[in-house]
Amino acid sequence: MTRQLDYHEIDQIFARLHEAEPEPKGELEHVNAYTLLVAVALSAQATDVGVNKATRKLFEIADTPQKMLALGDEGLIEHIRTIGLYRNKAKNVIRMSEILVERFGGEVPSSRAALVSLPGVGRKTANVVLSMWWGHPAQAVDTHIFRVCNRTGLAPGKDVDAVERGIEDHVPARWQRHAHHWLILHGRYICVARKPKCPICPIRDLCLFEEKTL
Ligand code: SF4
Repeated sequence: MTRQLDYHEIDQIFARLHEAEPEPKGELEHVNAYTLLVAVALSAQATDVGVNKATRKLFEIADTPQKMLALGDEGLIEHIRTIGLYRNKAKNVIRMSEILVERFGGEVPSSRAALVSLPGVGRKTANVVLSMWWGHPAQAVDTHIFRVCNRTGLAPGKDVDAVERGIEDHVPARWQRHAHHWLILHGRYICVARKPKCPICPIRDLCLFEEKTL
């Protein structure tokens, strides 16, 4: 496994990612905490672009759990059938909306334990909502972040939990808040899976990946 980068090296990486993109944002469209939660839940094994296409119209009609329940299972399916695993995801969104109304007064809760108690909401989804909506320095590790952290040595780990802990333990506090978005954008557009764009990578000299492209 790649060695762990040191404090100064990690600080440099984020200083450069920050310089390239001072205010990084997630790409999933939403209008409030509820629609963010639904969008993230729908995005499992789907692209943000695909989810945005489906939710743009959906969120005009159903931007609260109450309105989603009024739309119902079949109504929701009509909007999201272009997204993978849509039947299961629709079931979860409807059940999640029922629970939000019954137990949380129709609001999205701001604790991880409450979020992961909702159907279809795992630790990663909860962390995205905590970070994007509540400004909590939670680290949601997806496939892009996992790859970047392992290639570079920023937070090497054999599974997503180890990488999540590595980011929390090793990334300086001032970068924690936006670390998720910087790493996701870096993985999506530069450190791509098959042929990373090392020649144009702003952190090339700090990255420890042994198979950099020329
Ligand atoms: S140098 Fe290459 S492998 Fe390393 S972070 Fe940049 S794109 Fe990824």
